[in-house]
Amino acid sequence: MGRDRVMGAERTPLIAGNWKMYKTEAQSEGYIQALLPRVSSVSGVDIAVCVPYTDLRAMVDSARGSRVEVYAQNMHHEPQGAFTGEISALMLSELDVAGVVLGHSERRQLFGETDKALALKVPAALEAGIAPILCVGESEEERDEGETERKLRHQIGEDLAGVRDERLAEVTIAYEPIWAIGTGRVATPEQAQEAIAFVRALVGGRSPAAAEQVRILYGGSVKPDNAAELLELPDVDGALVGGASLEAESFAAIVAAAQS
Ligand code: PEP
Repeated sequence: MGRDRVMGAERTPLIAGNWKMYKTEAQSEGYIQALLPRVSSVSGVDIAVCVPYTDLRAMVDSARGSRVEVYAQNMHHEPQGAFTGEISALMLSELDVAGVVLGHSERRQLFGETDKALALKVPAALEAGIAPILCVGESEEERDEGETERKLRHQIGEDLAGVRDERLAEVTIAYEPIWAIGTGRVATPEQAQEAIAFVRALVGGRSPAAAEQVRILYGGSVKPDNAAELLELPDVDGALVGGASLEAESFAAIVAAAQS
């Protein structure tokens, strides 16, 4: 690895909380009322909460006018059709949902999400005005075998194949080493910087301008006490936060770390 950092871009950090399958609609209401006052004076940081489908409408209504945006955690690429159990980008956009997480490793590993499907989903989200966060990352075995770069190259190449170069910078990429998700084993700053610089260089292989602008987040056991050292890394433009996003206080502390 060890690619040169792309210099000169002003990228607003994004702190996105991934609730996974936690919080009913009633529970989400208490959360947003606790979060909003804690982040009301934050500037220079974008904030998103990625919530279960059933919480979307209430969360969008409660967060309206605040700096917190509401994202979904998956979507189908077709606007409608005979796809039982699926939700489309059109359905999300009508609810004023701002974005969507795509290709989270839990969806890839547990629900058979494929790169082929993601190659359709990412452009479909962009077309519908839904900001995609595309998750990529290697397993522990792949890292141990020196396969990290190959895996990242494969995922970035396949999953973004349907996105035109002019729109690449509208995708947020989250580098999430699978071995760090939900394990408490955070990547070292060196590992995070190296992998994220590599992902940026991959985007640069298609469009140097997009590489400067594209936001690349780190995800994997980010907590209030390790956020600052990750967020200050030159190529890290924010964080995708799972467990620590479930409490408004710890999520707000990570947002504050991004601000400073
Ligand atoms: C995630 O769900 O994307 C994640 C990074 O989880 P955690 O922060 O709990 O590791």
